[in-house]
Amino acid sequence: MKTLGKFSMGLGDRFGHQGAAQLEAIIEAGKKSNEITPVWNKSNREHIIIGTQPGDVRAEADLVTKKSGFKKPYFVDADHINLDTVDRFIESSDFFTIDVASYIGKRAGDDEIQAFLKDAGKYSDKLKIPGIRKSLEVSRQRITEIAEKYLFAAIKAREIYRKIEKVKGKGNFITEVSMDEVPYPQTPVELFFILKMVGEKNIPVQTIAPKFSGRFNKGVDYVGDPEKFAEEFESDLMVIDFAIKEFGLPENLKMSIHSGSDKFSIYPVIGSIVKKHNKGFHLKTAGTTWLEEVIGLAASGGKALDFVKDIYFSSLEKTEELCAPYADVIDINISMLPSKDEVSGWNSEKFAASLRHVPGNRDFNPNMRQLIHVAYKLAALKMDEYFRLLKTNEKTVSQSVYENIYNRHICRLFNIK
Ligand SMILES: [Zn+2]
Repeated sequence: MKTLGKFSMGLGDRFGHQGAAQLEAIIEAGKKSNEITPVWNKSNREHIIIGTQPGDVRAEADLVTKKSGFKKPYFVDADHINLDTVDRFIESSDFFTIDVASYIGKRAGDDEIQAFLKDAGKYSDKLKIPGIRKSLEVSRQRITEIAEKYLFAAIKAREIYRKIEKVKGKGNFITEVSMDEVPYPQTPVELFFILKMVGEKNIPVQTIAPKFSGRFNKGVDYVGDPEKFAEEFESDLMVIDFAIKEFGLPENLKMSIHSGSDKFSIYPVIGSIVKKHNKGFHLKTAGTTWLEEVIGLAASGGKALDFVKDIYFSSLEKTEELCAPYADVIDINISMLPSKDEVSGWNSEKFAASLRHVPGNRDFNPNMRQLIHVAYKLAALKMDEYFRLLKTNEKTVSQSVYENIYNRHICRLFNIK
């Protein structure tokens, strides 16, 4: 039976060159007694844009772990798959993020809804969850609304799960259910009933990715009230704990935090709450590695700096097109983007510092960082040159990748001084 460890991190490596540097950060954390399971994830959209295959991620993960003598478990995640996209991921992946976002809000059949309500009715009026001080108000009407909104998604999740299980066999892969790519957050009460549905459908889910309140924009800090987030996060944690016992879900079921990179203002909160309750988490950091490649190339100067400047100039011309698929997860203030004229005169340091996520640094520009975050497509158009530059400047680039994951992410999350 494949089980995911207490702490795990999703590492996205869009162009497949930074696996070793990413793993080095995980190994360093292990030396400081913070065991983290690495999970390499790449979504279908990213594969299509870059022109890679799911098997490429598997090959990279196998290669870098072998090379560094890493003997602990690691996984390859078919990120945000659904019924239409799962097929080509099945062979090479052993972690599946079943994305039900597109099924949320579609109504299941009356019989199915009635069957769910029959048993769920016992939680109506006052739902008391251990660890949550106030009891949650849940009317029958509210449970019906939740069933109408989410039951169809749970049925679809089951269908996708079964499809994977048929090929891979029971227990041979990790199952995550994600519902973060929707406009509105799920409340702890909704999460409770969603987990009931998942339990009834016999999906052995080990991680669940709700959408939290506040903005989880790509590559930049959390936007919202960290205290409110803390309350919601802790309630969700208590809901999961209760649901495991109540619905017979896997013992190690834990929270998955998507768009989890760079959320520096809530890392201390996440770290201290999971510690308090002796829980773990899965944190996905998909696209930051690409940003670190750009920063590393900028810092290398010469042709590498020219190349990333060109990427930025094209991204200014194609802002709308690049941002469209990511509308829910970026907030770019166009008027704060430096112009082509301005950036032309920048040196290595200035360009790198504008993108490097160091809060408080005067040069750091979160608008420019978000734009470059979604501009990886432009490097994919000049792949040969891009890869050549990554190779020539390998040391600076991998240093940049390592420092980002280890110093800025892991140290904050695990309170390593
Ligand atoms: Zn996600």
